[in-house]
Amino acid sequence: MVCEIAVISGKGGTGKTSVVAAFASLAENIILADCDVDAPDLHILLQPEIKKTEEFQSSKVAKIDSELCTECGLCEESCRFDAAHPPMIDAISCEGCAVCEYVCPEHAVQMVDRVSGHLFESLTRFGPMSHAKLLPGEGNSGLLVTEVRKQGEELAKSNGSDTILIDGSPGIGCPVIATIRSIDLAVIVTEPTMSGIHDMSRVLQLADRFNVPSAVIINKFDLSEANSARIESFCKENSLSLLGMIPFDPLVTKSMLDAKTIPEFAPQHAISSLLNDMWKTILELI
Ligand code: SF4
Ligand code: SF4
Repeated sequence: MVCEIAVISGKGGTGKTSVVAAFASLAENIILADCDVDAPDLHILLQPEIKKTEEFQSSKVAKIDSELCTECGLCEESCRFDAAHPPMIDAISCEGCAVCEYVCPEHAVQMVDRVSGHLFESLTRFGPMSHAKLLPGEGNSGLLVTEVRKQGEELAKSNGSDTILIDGSPGIGCPVIATIRSIDLAVIVTEPTMSGIHDMSRVLQLADRFNVPSAVIINKFDLSEANSARIESFCKENSLSLLGMIPFDPLVTKSMLDAKTIPEFAPQHAISSLLNDMWKTILELI
């Protein structure tokens, strides 16, 4: 059986990806999946070697056949997005509504597949990785996340791995729902601020709704020990595992600048042993 662990956060910038990368360097025989398809950044730290690239097509765009088009202007008049300029279509503005195809008396318009992003299969120094990149302005990120997870599951099967470690996207939207659906554990990274606590409780509710067990990590806990204590009490009241509290330390930024995970950069540092303990607890929880 393959266990899936997703590291998520209620908002961006909590240090989620640094935590995922650190766990990746501590784990054995895992598959990595970066489901933050709108703004992936795990590859910056892990510098994967891309083995396979596939186009992700999830929507349509209009295309005019200039041989058939008489430039009557009907499509231009009907397009609410100012995308039809016969015999050309502005692909960036086109929303794929197909009104132009419907109104064209010459049947000169065809709706064709639009490339919305790319799906990658790669190899990192910690194992295979499934990841993707949505093109600017494109939607359907939830669908692309599902593709990343599907590819991750196939990689786990072909590599005989029993653990998939997922870097999720921040927030509570569609990509997060697609990330946490039927996983084994959601690890929520939060910061000790009032907005951090609020965002953490929203993402916890979401995980609850999908019957996904959760655990919490407080990053930069010493920036507000009062708020960290609030989060600690919240975890106790709600029977949530508090995996650990990471202090603020410039070492984290230094390791990122060196494109290394924290345990790679400073294996003897207290934060590295803290992360090691957290990873061991995660393995016990699943
Ligand atoms: S409606 Fe059809 S024929 Fe008329 S301008 Fe548009 S594409 Fe050309
Ligand atoms: S598909 Fe819709 S948005 Fe795109 S050009 Fe045609 S009418 Fe405009």
